[in-house]
Amino acid sequence: MEKYQVLLYYQYVKMEDPEQFAQEHKAFCEELGLKGRILVAEEGINGTVSGTVEATQVYMDKMHADPRFSSMPFKIDETDGHAFKKLKVKPRPELVTLRLGEEDVNPLEVTGNYLEPDEFYQAMQDDNTVVIDARNDYEYELGHFRGAVKPEIKNFRELPAWIEANKDQFEGKRILTYCTGGIRCEKFSGWLVEKGFEDVHQLHGGIATYAKHPEVKGQLWDGKMYVFDERISVPINQVEHVIVGRDYFDGTPCERYINCGNPFCNKQILCSEENEAKYLGGCTHECRTHPNNRYIEEHNLTDAEVEARLKALEAEANQTI
Ligand SMILES: [Zn+2]
Repeated sequence: MEKYQVLLYYQYVKMEDPEQFAQEHKAFCEELGLKGRILVAEEGINGTVSGTVEATQVYMDKMHADPRFSSMPFKIDETDGHAFKKLKVKPRPELVTLRLGEEDVNPLEVTGNYLEPDEFYQAMQDDNTVVIDARNDYEYELGHFRGAVKPEIKNFRELPAWIEANKDQFEGKRILTYCTGGIRCEKFSGWLVEKGFEDVHQLHGGIATYAKHPEVKGQLWDGKMYVFDERISVPINQVEHVIVGRDYFDGTPCERYINCGNPFCNKQILCSEENEAKYLGGCTHECRTHPNNRYIEEHNLTDAEVEARLKALEAEANQTI
């Protein structure tokens, strides 16, 4: 079987014409048979693509031959096939949605101090350090650095407001931030510096790079790392595996993500195969009984079968009252 690779990369760099670049870049990627998602903005490029080892190598060489991306790091994972269904190359106003408006930060001008994986590993273990996860809650729930703070937010763009409200926790402490590949922290840590926090650091290359460091070996990471492709999650800690994910329905250890069967809800929940069947793939009674429930459709359940499962849930609920 032919070997495939997934590439993850970004570069903050001034781009003159994102629209035209995106158009030409898409044609180039199509030629190579790559799939994935690439965003192009005036502030740079952010992408993740999959393709054969050969095609992805040509892609990296070509990018490195462009002076704008000559030192752009690629995080590389081996896979058995494509990790995406389609190819999307889109011009965008910004590479990550922080919605800072007038407070927008140019990471080329201001950003937190870069820590390499081994430095981050050491710094994390210091008492006067607070580690902030700069990702979304569903990413944190599947896995995170041991003891890291989880901001109570639904989207990255809500992070600044949350920090404002929780300032007291961080003042006078050394702040470490981290995210998947590092791009979100470039802005987030820069914004923290702008906000007057003095001792701000970011994990260089993100968790993806941390996982591959030969000495650190992903230690102090618990659970798995959420990724935005068909793999959904990848392992990080090569030394021990502590499961932190919890089943949405019964709270037992779980690392299996599903989307709620109601296509209009689509909520991502951690859920065992057993509970998915028991709860008809729906996160609430409304979602379970929704006429478009995908779970019922995909499993060809008869009305009687659906009725029986709903009855069983009702009986269980009455028992616990
Ligand atoms: Zn739902």
